[in-house]
Amino acid sequence: MNTFHSTRSVTDSLTAKQAIRKGIADDGGLFVTDALGQAKVDVASLAGKSYQQIAYEVLSLLLDDFDEQELRACIDGAYGKQWSDERITPLKQVGDDYILELFNGPTCAFKDVALQILPRFMACTSPTTGDGEKIMIVTATSGDTGKAALAGFADVPGTGITVFYPQGKVSRVQELQMTTQQGANVHVSAVEGNFDDAQSQVKRIFGDTQFAEQLKSDEHVVLSSANSINVGRLVPQVVYYFAAYAQLLESQAINVGDEVEFIVPTGNFGNILAGYYAKRMGLPVRDLVVASDKNNVLFDFLVSGTYNKQRPFFETISPSMDILVSSNLERMLYYLAENDPNLVADVMNDLNEWGAYQVPEQLLARIRHVFNTGWADEDQVREMIGQCWNDHHYVIDPHTACGYYVMQQMPRDTQVPRVLLATASPYKFPRVVNESLGLDATGTDFECMDELSRATGTTIPAMLRNLETADVRFRDVVPVDGMQRFVAESAAEL
Ligand SMILES: *Cc1c(COP(=O)(O)O)cnc(C)c1O
Repeated sequence: MNTFHSTRSVTDSLTAKQAIRKGIADDGGLFVTDALGQAKVDVASLAGKSYQQIAYEVLSLLLDDFDEQELRACIDGAYGKQWSDERITPLKQVGDDYILELFNGPTCAFKDVALQILPRFMACTSPTTGDGEKIMIVTATSGDTGKAALAGFADVPGTGITVFYPQGKVSRVQELQMTTQQGANVHVSAVEGNFDDAQSQVKRIFGDTQFAEQLKSDEHVVLSSANSINVGRLVPQVVYYFAAYAQLLESQAINVGDEVEFIVPTGNFGNILAGYYAKRMGLPVRDLVVASDKNNVLFDFLVSGTYNKQRPFFETISPSMDILVSSNLERMLYYLAENDPNLVADVMNDLNEWGAYQVPEQLLARIRHVFNTGWADEDQVREMIGQCWNDHHYVIDPHTACGYYVMQQMPRDTQVPRVLLATASPYKFPRVVNESLGLDATGTDFECMDELSRATGTTIPAMLRNLETADVRFRDVVPVDGMQRFVAESAAEL
């Protein structure tokens, strides 16, 4: 059986289920398994397989304490009719390159891939006590994650979810996506403050052991997090890399064994780390290309070997990639340092103490052998949205446009197909997209959607268009020091 331990020490020995339920290790590290890559996916047999079949092959290797029936039930529930394309992550040819659409799920962003299945994984894990213990997910969101988590956890037995967002700091569409969420176990509140205030308070609530004991004894509830450090959020993302390869085989763009290059818009390093896991599990990957926005801390690290979070923070038009501390990078460092927890513990200690760390020359060389990188500023993002439409009649969102820019900058090797991962529907950011395409962007977000649809002949996802008339269920606004009480009240209702 695969066992999981912290990136910073080897004392833990958890099964996959235990690691998923626990989320983060006690020493602050992320759960990893040294068995990664020992078992390979049979690439020759991928063509013709459904997304769900590929998901079973990949996930059964990584989460080997789930039995077949459990895993198949999780997969069928997560990747069903709530997706608008039966291929789940369809691959589209755009000029000489390919775009892998990760946004056809229920909230129109790539986080659905992981957050549709994570709650189902959690429902398969056993409570540590036998008293009907429930899990309450608590999340602060700057926009996208909150909705995807709400949609994933809504009405999942044994779980509840509470989401906080900064009042007035998310788009109208994002706010409506959250406040109209259906489900008996969901709670949403605005917070008087910015995202960092809400996030810091959530971390404080998680660290309050007295509060945890009180919730456990009064309500039989334990708190957990759905953020992207959970191994149960990372591993579902490995699947779409194999699904892309399967589709390239089917269209005879490649033969079995041919290498493919992936260009990946990423902030927290989760999207691209999954590609590294796929490579270790046998997928023929040439380069993995990290595409950043103006918050280019990953670019600087991959070029120089120095990670420095002490730098200005930019609020850009690609908000889901606006990140200064890239949590999942820690897992990459662990594996590329040849499974050395001491090195990871040292550099993470430097990051906490000094706000920066540097990796040895040799390690940087190994990292750069696998990962390439680039970044785009906001003018370039807008230009790419226009260019991709003009050249290929394909509309991209601002996050995908960062990757598109990086892809255009790279020298092309005509032998190696390039796959750009598209992480959000352009209709989630209709105003920026309209401005970039020279369309009217003066009205409401919904008027922008209508204009974008009219001008490009593309269809507005019903889930987004219907928000204008959906019933708002949640109108709470709490001060930062009222968040804990809101969690307690939500827990009492579970
Ligand atoms: C979360 C997100 C990303 C980045 O994903 P990481 O997990 O940070 O790699 C990119 N685009 C969109 C639209 C997202 O929501």
